[in-house]
Amino acid sequence: MIPSAFDYERATSVDDAVARLAAAGGAGKLIAGGHSLVPLMKLRLNEPGTLIDIARIPELAGVREVDGAIEIGAGTVHHAVATSDLLRARCPVVAETAATIGDPQVRNRGTLGGSIAHADPAADYPATLLALDAEVRIQGPRGARTVAARDFFQDLFTVDLAGDELITAVRFAPVRTAAYAKLYQRASRFAIVGVAAALDVAGGTVRSARLGLTGALSHAVRLTAVEEALAGRPADADSVAAEAARAGDGLSDLNADIHAGADYRRAMVGVFAQRALRAALARG
Ligand SMILES: Cc1cc2nc3c(=O)[nH]c(=O)nc-3n(C[C@H](O)[C@H](O)[C@H](O)COP(=O)(O)OP(=O)(O)OC[C@H]3O[C@@H](n4cnc5c(N)ncnc54)[C@H](O)[C@@H]3O)c2cc1C
Repeated sequence: MIPSAFDYERATSVDDAVARLAAAGGAGKLIAGGHSLVPLMKLRLNEPGTLIDIARIPELAGVREVDGAIEIGAGTVHHAVATSDLLRARCPVVAETAATIGDPQVRNRGTLGGSIAHADPAADYPATLLALDAEVRIQGPRGARTVAARDFFQDLFTVDLAGDELITAVRFAPVRTAAYAKLYQRASRFAIVGVAAALDVAGGTVRSARLGLTGALSHAVRLTAVEEALAGRPADADSVAAEAARAGDGLSDLNADIHAGADYRRAMVGVFAQRALRAALARG
């Protein structure tokens, strides 16, 4: 189907994008890579009056170190995340996650900010941002604010972001002992189930664990029961994997679709939690 008619504007800076959104008075919509928004416009599920293109704002792109943390600009395309030397050295789970997204065309156009703003229940980044306890940085007409990833992802395609706000970046403390494991849908490579695990290991013991889950529920969540069970356990792969095998047990309202039923997804949560944890420990 052909989208409804719309005006097109290109923003040159974050402030310019926020001002253009305000001027559009509720009819404006940001477009970054367009890989999620354009299909919705073609189905007329989204009919913006004005598209505000943020794909060429220099300050939104790039991976950098800030005060010991790593910050990724919201306009950074998945390919740049997947091939970042900084991420590969300091926090390989993020590059690994980006590398699993879609195909080369999607990875060269789609952006981190677009992915988390859209919040598809099968998107990959949310699981990893949850496991890293990342913060989402947002700019709007009322100024700048920061939201923890665990509060940002709220429901199906629903995040803590107002229509007149723009995501500028995500920021997290780098963790080397972290990994992402995903059962992917063969055609699109979206996650049927994806688990990211980040571990704090000291003296052969798991001091703390954070696990983010995507694909299985309406939105990405932390696997808090597994996190609690892992704290204080020996940091050997078999002991950790035994706890993770039960990761799907307490979940309710699992997704069911043509790709996988709810029971299968529940079983796969345990399998992919184990894989993520084993891979994380192997990086320690
Ligand atoms: C064939 C195909 C396969 C895919 N496979 C996967 C996959 O395996 N895993 C996966 O995770 N994803 C997958 N995707 C989704 C892909 O990662 C998209 O790029 C991503 O979801 C949206 O990013 P975008 O930059 O294209 O956003 P757009 O489509 O431009 O925008 C999406 C939404 O985000 C808003 N938005 C964009 N940027 C910002 C910002 N900075 N601040 C606030 N709001 C913003 C827009 O207004 C819009 O509502 C796939 C997509 C396709 C088409």
